[in-house]
This record gives sequence, C-alpha cells and structure tokens, in this order.
Amino acid sequence: MAHIDAGKTTTTERILYYTGKSHRLGEVDDGEATMDWMVQEQERGITIQSAATTTYWKRETKNGNQTGKNNTFQINIIDTPGHVDFTAEVERSLRVLDGALALFDAVRGVEAQTETVWRQADHYKVPCIGYVNKMDRLGADFFSAVEDIKTKLNANPVPLQIPVGKESSFEGVIDLIEMKEIRWDASGEGEVMNYSPVSPSLTDEAQKWREKLIDTLSGFSDPITEKFLAGEEIPPELIRSELRKAVISRNILPIFVGASRRNMGVQPLIDAVVDFLPAPNETMPAAGRHIKKEEDIEIPCDPNANPLGLVFKIQNDREAGSLCYVRMYSGSIKNGAVVFNVGKKKRERANRILRMHSNKSEPMDSLSAGDIGVIIGMKLAQTGDTIGAENWPVLLETMQFPEPVISVSMEPKNLSEQEKLKEILAILSKEDPTFTARDNEETGQLIISGMGELHLDVLVTRILTEFKVGAKVGNPQVTYRESISSVIEHKEIFSKVMGGKENAASLTLRVEPQSRGKGNQYQWAAGKISVPEAIRDAVERGINASMQSGIVLGYPCIDIKVTVIDAGYSELTGTEFAFEACASMGYDEACRKAGPELLEPIMAIDIVSPKEFVGDVISLVTQRGGQILSMDSKTGGDEVKARSPMAKMFGFMTSLRSASQGRAVFTMEFSHFEKKMER
Ligand code: GDP
Ligand code: MG
Repeated sequence: MAHIDAGKTTTTERILYYTGKSHRLGEVDDGEATMDWMVQEQERGITIQSAATTTYWKRETKNGNQTGKNNTFQINIIDTPGHVDFTAEVERSLRVLDGALALFDAVRGVEAQTETVWRQADHYKVPCIGYVNKMDRLGADFFSAVEDIKTKLNANPVPLQIPVGKESSFEGVIDLIEMKEIRWDASGEGEVMNYSPVSPSLTDEAQKWREKLIDTLSGFSDPITEKFLAGEEIPPELIRSELRKAVISRNILPIFVGASRRNMGVQPLIDAVVDFLPAPNETMPAAGRHIKKEEDIEIPCDPNANPLGLVFKIQNDREAGSLCYVRMYSGSIKNGAVVFNVGKKKRERANRILRMHSNKSEPMDSLSAGDIGVIIGMKLAQTGDTIGAENWPVLLETMQFPEPVISVSMEPKNLSEQEKLKEILAILSKEDPTFTARDNEETGQLIISGMGELHLDVLVTRILTEFKVGAKVGNPQVTYRESISSVIEHKEIFSKVMGGKENAASLTLRVEPQSRGKGNQYQWAAGKISVPEAIRDAVERGINASMQSGIVLGYPCIDIKVTVIDAGYSELTGTEFAFEACASMGYDEACRKAGPELLEPIMAIDIVSPKEFVGDVISLVTQRGGQILSMDSKTGGDEVKARSPMAKMFGFMTSLRSASQGRAVFTMEFSHFEKKMER
C-alpha cells in the first residue's frame, strides 16, 4: 500500500519474479506488468483494481516462524492502486489481509495518499512493514523519510537496514541484524546477492543504528533486555523472533530500503514478510456477530470448525459470470458444496473454486481458513457479504466504502444501446461498490456516479471502448445529498383496491436529523406494535427505496433517523404491497415537512509544489473558494493542505499543471458533507 507511483506494482513484479511465479520481469513503464493486466491500467500505467496473486517463498535462514513446510511459505499478495479515486480497492484489501507492506518514495517521504491508506490500515489493525524505495533517485534521503514516517504517521519506525550510498551511487544495504552488507549483482535481474562484512567507513553508522534497534526492541521484549543488561551477544534468531511479536502487536514498524526498479532490495523484503508478518492463525481472531443469539463473538482461524468467509470483491468474467473473491476465516468450503449467504438468508452453490494469479487461475478442491480464493457459482453474493453455514448464522464485520460525489450523464443512442448500457452498469456497479448508476426518468439519461474525475473517466472509457456502447456522455456534475433539519411525526394512511382486493396500511413515522456523518438509521419503536415479519421487511424496503430517491431534488438522503412509531395492520387487507407503498409515501411526506436541506461534498486537497510556484498555487485554490488549512516545508517541495467544495474543483488538475509548469502534485479526496451555501 502507498501513494501512487511509490513503486508498489514494480516491487510486486519483482516479488513474483524472484519467487519464481513469473519468468520475466514485466515493467509498468512498458505497460507489461503482470498485476496491471486491465487494458485501462496498461494504457495509463497505473493500477486501478487490486489483483490477487499467490506465490511461494523458501526462507533460507532460520527464523522465528516455523509454520512453513520445508521452510516454504505461501504468500497471498494483493497489489493495490494508489490513486484516491480507487480507495475502495485499498479498503477491501486491508479488510482481508493479515499484513501490509507500506512503500515510501525516498525523495518524497510520506505523501498524502500514504496517510490515507495508513489510516485504513490502522482501522483494521493490520501489522505493517515499511520499505523506503527509489533510493537511486536524485534527492533520495533515507533518514529523512524515516523521520517523516515517525512524525506524520505517528508510527514507531525502526530501520532494520540502512542504505549503502544513495542516488546514482546507491550500491546496496546493510542488514543491521546480521551486520552484513548486501549488494546485488548488476549483470542479471538482481537474482544474485553478495554478502560481505560491513565496510570500515560505515561501521560506526551501522553500529549506531543497530543499537537503536536493540534499544527500541528491548522496550517490548524482556529476553532482549536481559541479554542486553548482561552484556551478552544477542543472536539474530532472537532478535527476529522478538521483533516478530512487536510487529504483529503493531508496536514497531520495521523499515527496509532499496530501489526496486534497479532490482535492489526486494528479496530481504520477502524474507521480512515471512519473518515478521503473522500467519493467518497468529492474527487476532476475526470479529463476528451471531445473528440468532444476538451476541458478538470471536472466530478463531480453525480449518475444522464451521465454514465462514467474507466476499471482498466481485469481478465479472464473460464466460464464468461472477468471480467472488473470498477470504476464509473459519472451516472450509469444498468444490460443489452448498454455501449459505448469511445476510441474505439464501443458499447458493460453490460450483468451482480457484486460486487466482492476477488474471489467470488454477482450480482447487477447497478453500480453508486463512486462505484467499475465488468461488464461482454464487449469483446473489455482493461485496461485503458473509458466507457460511445455515446452522451457524454469523455475520463478519463488513467494510465501509466512501460515497460517490461526482456524476456524469450517459445518453444511449437508441433503445437497444440503452438496454445494453443498463446491463453493463449493473455488472460494473456490482464489481465496484463506489460506483452507482441510476435512471433519470425525466430525461431518459442514465446517471453514473463515482469517486472523482479519474474514476469516472476510466469507467466511461471502459463502457465506450471495452463494451462498445454507443452513448453521449455529459460533463461531470456534483452529486449532492439531501437531509432534514427538524423532527417530524407523520401518519400516513394507504388504501387501494387492486384486482377486486383491498390493500390497506397505516403507519406513523418519526423522522429526525442526525449529526453529520452518522448515516441513516431505521428502527421500530420498542414494544406494542405487532405485525408479521414479512410486513416489517416490506416497510424497510419502502423506506430504503425512498431514502435513495431523495426528498426535493432526487439526491440520496443521508443522516436521517426513521422510527416506526405505530402501524395499523389487519390480516384481511394488510398486504406487503400496501405497507411498502405506505412506508415510502409516508417517509417522503414526513421529510418534506421536516425542513429539507441540500448538502454538498467538501473535498480535502493536498498539493506538493516546488517553492517558486507556491504563491500561484495558493491563489489558484483561494480563487476557487478553497480554504487553506496548513503549509509545510519538505524535501520534495512545499505541502499545502486545503479544503474546497467539489463544485469548484472540476478541471483543477489542468489549471494546477499550467500554474506550476507541471511540477506540482495534487490529490483530492472526499472529506465531508456540508449545507450548501448560496454562491
Ligand atoms: P505504483 O503506483 O506504486 O504501483 O508505482 P509503479 O510500480 O507503477 O511505479 C511508478 C513509477 O516509478 C514507474 O515509472 C517505475 O518505473 C518507477 N519506479 C519504481 N521503483 C523505482 C525505483 O526503485 N527507482 C526509480 N528511479 N524509479 C522507480
Ligand atoms: Mg501500481
């Protein structure tokens, strides 16, 4: 995980190459990276979707972790995109992975998007290893990058290596545990590593950093402290096994260094994954909720217990249909078995199970606790769903995705293109939870919404070129939200005769505003109301549909709490249809009376610019109604943090480029919704 361009894909390609998974090095710059297999990725030279791959690594020396067979360890890798617009891919990867490799550009240190992914890793408590890449670049500074990690990420970085040389004279690394120099033979692709004693000119520096390492580690380890106080030699195995505990408990962030593009630094990083990141059975047990017993439970990683897995990604395949990526937390699922979708209360069949190697696959007999794989045959499953067994209805913690804030309209050329487009949009929004599509009944257009201009641009290009739909595309627009400002109680009465039968319902609803960011909430008042389960479900459906379709302007509703206070139900006339319609109409009417408000997305902006352009950059932001929050000087330039309404930020990238001669770097992500000001 890292900011865009830190070298995630380049490093992943090397990992696959050195572990023998791929037989030649695919370069991002040539559009040939194995992990970036989608046409849009190769053309743009960026990662858009997270590709999952499995590889195996033989750890040569002895280490703290003995769970690998013959010292061979299975590693599942997910390469993630760095651009903010594809943050959902990062979110779901961090939700299911047991460890992360955080990359840093040796020139730029901690960049804006790195802070974001770091927060995501914090949220899911994922143990991390740090890697300072690009030591060969002009301006590379390992120690200042480490300092940046400490201050900006609030982490406890501890170098396990220091670089030998830098920029064009970057030659290799010093391993502070073994106290050896490692250099990579430049004649091949860096397969051959040469070890030598630390050269005299670097001994003092290396000694100093080794002492820091031991000192920090002793703060978390009694055995290290004891040996240290007794003045004894501390064996490398002990350092590694004690470090392993400190990394898994997230007390220490071990730091490695290299230049992946120059084939330097990668093998020790793979060793580090084995040495310091947890095996599935060493992580904290997964958290779940038993929905029958209504209690929170912990789920240990036991392949012999009941099956339980999380669908974290869905990818559509022309021939096979939905490929459901599943992380198994307990038990196992066999090929051909019936699986239970716990949230949807539906049975489905796992027709085929595959292990994925980016866009290729290999059939498997079963998927067991700790593993990641693809199940084919589940049509109903959606991202975030739990699958398991009917006799053990447990829901795993799902993942949170940010809300789409910009949209474009698409107007198909004719009716048959319209049908085709609708099908494709359904597929794409199933793959990508941050992308939504809806009809605008008045104009006949389809409105698609996403995270940012790049996100929509990629989707629109795929629709027009990959799926070959003929459609006119509008300009990007802001996706607003609607909410309310006061509390209202409202009674809705519904009655309609259809096919000679009466459908009747009455509902009293209370709607109230919630604090910003709290989300929507829906509940039944405790006690007295007695209606069948199916009627309750119908009411929920009606309210959900209305929340999606807005109050006054048709934008989705947020931060509204709905309570059903009373229901008038008779067995004779109380149909599901009546209650669904009654709930929907009642909700709309209540909200119209409750002081509806229009909310607009406010974006957090981060710009790093060379000093000479900072003045221009700042006036560019303020011209657009932006508010400058902070300014900070760093090696790569000055960093400006600001905030501005999305409505003012279209095309900002282009103006920034011309104001800074293309040298300022810019990221923008959704911050929060605010009541729209008249401008
Ligand atoms: P990602 O966005 O994190 O996946 O980054 P990529 O792997 O796509 O790399 C972004 C760019 O940085 C590409 O042009 C790479 O060739 C380049 N790059 C990656 N690693 C290094 C490195 O060690 N040194 C230098 N100089 N460039 C690198
Ligand atoms: Mg990439």
